[in-house]
Amino acid sequence: MRAPCDLLLTNATVLTMDQKFTMYQSSRVAVAGDSIVAVGPDADAYEAAETIDCLGRVVMPGLVNAHTHVPMALLRGLADDLRLDVWLMGYMLPVEREFVSPDFVRLGTGLGCAEMVRSGVTCFADMYYFEDAIAEATAEAGMRALCAQTVLRFPTPDATSYEESLARARDFIVRWRGHPLIVPAPAPHAPYTCTPEILRACAELAVEFDVPLHIHLSESVQEVEDSRRVNGMPVVPWVKKHGLFDAKVLAAHCVHVDDGELRTLKNVGAGVAHNPTSNLKLGAGIAPVARMLELGLNVGIGTDGAASNNDLDMFEETRLAALLAKGISGDPTALPARGALAMATRLGACAMHMNHLTGSLEPGKRADLIIVDLDPLHNVPAFGRDPNGVYAQIVYASKSTDVIDVMCNGRWLMRDRKLLTLDETGLREAARAQARRVDAFLSGREVSVLQKLVAVGGAVELESFEVQVKARVPSAEQVLAVIEGKKVTVVRSSRYHQFDTYWSFDDPDQGWLRYREDEFLNEAGNVTGARARLTLTGRTREADLGGVLLFRSRYLAPAAHSPRFYREYFRPAAEHVVEKDRRRWLLVYRGVEFYVHLDRLLNPPGDGYFIEVKSRTWSQRDAQDKAAVITELLALFGTSPDDTISDGYVALVAGRR
Ligand SMILES: [Zn+2]
Repeated sequence: MRAPCDLLLTNATVLTMDQKFTMYQSSRVAVAGDSIVAVGPDADAYEAAETIDCLGRVVMPGLVNAHTHVPMALLRGLADDLRLDVWLMGYMLPVEREFVSPDFVRLGTGLGCAEMVRSGVTCFADMYYFEDAIAEATAEAGMRALCAQTVLRFPTPDATSYEESLARARDFIVRWRGHPLIVPAPAPHAPYTCTPEILRACAELAVEFDVPLHIHLSESVQEVEDSRRVNGMPVVPWVKKHGLFDAKVLAAHCVHVDDGELRTLKNVGAGVAHNPTSNLKLGAGIAPVARMLELGLNVGIGTDGAASNNDLDMFEETRLAALLAKGISGDPTALPARGALAMATRLGACAMHMNHLTGSLEPGKRADLIIVDLDPLHNVPAFGRDPNGVYAQIVYASKSTDVIDVMCNGRWLMRDRKLLTLDETGLREAARAQARRVDAFLSGREVSVLQKLVAVGGAVELESFEVQVKARVPSAEQVLAVIEGKKVTVVRSSRYHQFDTYWSFDDPDQGWLRYREDEFLNEAGNVTGARARLTLTGRTREADLGGVLLFRSRYLAPAAHSPRFYREYFRPAAEHVVEKDRRRWLLVYRGVEFYVHLDRLLNPPGDGYFIEVKSRTWSQRDAQDKAAVITELLALFGTSPDDTISDGYVALVAGRR
């Protein structure tokens, strides 16, 4: 007598993707409840209420997307062909700060899950904010996931501090541990966005609840170089030193790792998620996957977020992984199709520390499986001579649209290409509506340089008014004599080496954006410190008070990024550089405080000395009074408003070109 089960898949080419790559022709898979009970000839001992004839079809494990940020499906195509920092700091983070909420991630998860189910994915590793809502939406969609709550050293859309996000991660893990579909985890985002304290705390949290830990490691050359410079060692030994590998780690990327680091990853049992499209698209490089596999590391394949891919198609990703390994090694035998498909299934599950549940068709594992149709033209013909031919067919010829049925945890998520747990039409409409809101936000920001500056600059000083004049002086001696004399009182003084980069825009009303690096000099002329600031100078000039100008609209922001970042972010029409030696005094003359700068232009050279006098002002009357006093001061310095360079150094430099 045959044993009962719930479902029998018959007449299938069964790719178990187990460790021995066992495969069966015209064979069966038996499912009972949420699990696989028998595969191959063993399944002949079962009978089921429902039988599905899979003639001409492949039954294989559902694909495992080993690294993604699933709600970012909503940001697909938002900003492309940009460098990582401009993409991340200029676009992703500002938009995330503005929009990411539980509703946003729920919708994004629905959209991402629908796309993944359609392409044969049954399990994925996520890392994002409001992971609670992501886990809920994933469980509703019926998919399996490692859901990791992000922890960063700076405020996030779901936490104002690292302590708060760590507490959120703990609550999340406590709530979801033991769920049939969701494995909760902490996700310290990356070593460069965390502190050693955060890495250690997250590892301890993961160990306490025996859950994995999800992190980005060694994604870019910059990250590794910074680690060497700041920490004195590359990324992997540094995180090891801070206890990260006490946890069961899933490390995304590992693009720039040396052999020693790979051995460390292997020895501590860490899994790796290879994200070929994302690494290529952001120009990060190509991970040494063939070497990782040679060392016995568990390497899965991930799509990364849809904002850097721009889809969640694991068929495409698997093919690319196989091709890239050959391309960079010059060896067409590197990473054969069978190995690539193992990465997309069993090895991915191993990397996520979830291989006891999924990743292969073996009795006792959950019933996470897909049925692939080999009838479409691009799959025809097929040859029987080499039994491994079917792996090559799936990896090199088949497409995600060939997946016709998807089951996860014994439940059908798609039958005959129709989604059963997700409302595709509703998701499409809601995602488009959300995109319109993001578009409006970014378009509003792009209208002015100031808005773009506010978006990445953090705190920006408000508009101010000042009277100022800048004039050529015949010599430095006369100025110094006045300052050392009795007519003025010096409150304080300082000296800088100043490097200014000025950017202008097609619309002159946007004014000039100046990136200024100050090197502070001591009496001996040695550098004692440095700072960088951004200033947006509006063109608006209120009045010309007899050669002295009343200006308004100067916006200051700390320059947290490199000049290259701002150049690529603001895309100015022109750029000019001015370098000078500046002596600066705050002095009082006739009861009024003035800043006086004595500048010697170094680049462009040969222009001699300039004096700049300025003071904050509050009213037209006050401005007129101060303008009169400035005119007197200029006379003392041996110059007059007639010698002014009214548009400043940049006009001097720009006019000469
Ligand atoms: Zn990522």
